[in-house]
Amino acid sequence: MRKDRPAPRAFLRNAYSGFPGSVPILSRTRLALRRGVGARPPREGLIVSQRNRRLLRSLALWFAASSAQAQIVSVGASVETDPVPSSGDAADDVAIWVHPSHPGLSLLIGTDKQSGLAVYDLQGNQRQFLASGDFNNVDIRYRFPLAGNERALVATGERNRDLLALFAVDPQSRTLQDVAARDIVLGIEIYGCCLYRSPLTGDYYFFGTSGGGSIEQWRLFAAGGGRVDAVRVRAFDVGEQSEGCVADDETGYFYVAEENVGIWRYGAEPGAGTGRVLVDSTGPGGELDADVEGLAIYYAAGGGGYLIASSQGSSTFVVYERAAPNRHVVTFEIAADLARGIDGVSNTDGIDVANLWLGNSFSGGLFVAQDHTNPGSNQNFKLVSWRDIAAAASPPLLVDNTYDAHRARCDTAGWAYRNGSGANPFILTSLRRPVLGTTWECELDCAGHSPSSGFIAGFLAPGSGLFIRAGEVLVDIRSTHLFSQVAAHGGGAVRFSLPLPPDLLLCGLGISVQGACLGRPGAALSNAIDLTLGQ
Ligand code: CA
Ligand code: CA
Ligand code: CA
Ligand code: CA
Repeated sequence: MRKDRPAPRAFLRNAYSGFPGSVPILSRTRLALRRGVGARPPREGLIVSQRNRRLLRSLALWFAASSAQAQIVSVGASVETDPVPSSGDAADDVAIWVHPSHPGLSLLIGTDKQSGLAVYDLQGNQRQFLASGDFNNVDIRYRFPLAGNERALVATGERNRDLLALFAVDPQSRTLQDVAARDIVLGIEIYGCCLYRSPLTGDYYFFGTSGGGSIEQWRLFAAGGGRVDAVRVRAFDVGEQSEGCVADDETGYFYVAEENVGIWRYGAEPGAGTGRVLVDSTGPGGELDADVEGLAIYYAAGGGGYLIASSQGSSTFVVYERAAPNRHVVTFEIAADLARGIDGVSNTDGIDVANLWLGNSFSGGLFVAQDHTNPGSNQNFKLVSWRDIAAAASPPLLVDNTYDAHRARCDTAGWAYRNGSGANPFILTSLRRPVLGTTWECELDCAGHSPSSGFIAGFLAPGSGLFIRAGEVLVDIRSTHLFSQVAAHGGGAVRFSLPLPPDLLLCGLGISVQGACLGRPGAALSNAIDLTLGQ
């Protein structure tokens, strides 16, 4: 019995009873000081005036320093991964794969930009290493339609040959499989990359960035035989060296880090053009210190959540509101955790974040960052509980561990027909998958009966072997009765529809449904349908 499933009665009851940062303080202080100096030019004499200016300057510096310090909060890592195989600057970027049914079995996919792609479990153990190229950045999207299935698709850029490399995650073996249809050669010297799934069309896109500031957008498509191909749909220039990027699958924004300049926000659709907004900048007036590296999005319900940037020059992570205009919220660092024996993160590079519940260690989600220096060993990745980051901020950041923007979890929606001893006719048909948040439909064929009523009932458990005059009962009538519906039939087919709540906690719940046709020559029971709820 899964712990994250609610009591059936609660399901029945629920389903069928029918701050901003401290910038204003600093700017107000600066304004007051500026006004003070400007409005009252010193008349008392040179010595007093110089002393006043010195006092004012040191006061301003103190305010600036204390304000900046107040905004940088510290957290420790809970876990660190095995070191990457290559020495020197090798680890770069990371993507989190969320297991569809057992979140504690989720994985990290990290790049070793000198030799390949590594797969780690949430305890940091390396499970697989694909020594097949100089992969620099990596990103993931779920539910890519491939050979009749929906697969999690991992994309990365290979820098020796400027390839768009594609892998699918096998949830059984928890390993990556190469699914590229061919050598997909990009038109740029590939540096960074990220993925986008359009909320308008459902199409999947790859964005590649380059050291020269050129961006290419490619549409990904199933090429047959379980392979994925791509076609270029857009190219534009950001300016100078650009690497990290992230796309928001709900707002349709594409964010790209121009390493020495800041974060730009574009439209992610291929026809969005080149209009852009500078979200934040490096240097004075900005929260970032060059290089600006990885970008990631923490999704929360209702358009909430955060855009997070890796600020390499300050070894910090800068958090903005996900909603435009992406106001700065807090900046944090990953400090050494002596109790756990895990070193801190310095000169940080690629990052990723997931908001979903990933087991008790990462119950509010998971943040992962590359660490430039891992004493005594090659570089690695640090795993930080999002709950720790959220609690360190004041006011605390959002924790939303059930909102599944990418439908990463719970790919269980499906059904099976069942007919016990075979005494009943097969006349109940499922018309849709029982997807949470949608309406499930079925059809009962009452041909051969005089016009009367059709009936369906749903129980928590299947049954068999109980015979009544109308046929064999295929649901366990002692288990929880979830719903019944009655509708008139005219001697033919009758349809039923059942709204399913959009609650992720119902993932994997089974419902056994059976129908009955009333009318002459007498009531007759149907086959059963065993539903499994999912996304
Ligand atoms: Ca870089
Ligand atoms: Ca370190
Ligand atoms: Ca990088
Ligand atoms: Ca270490």
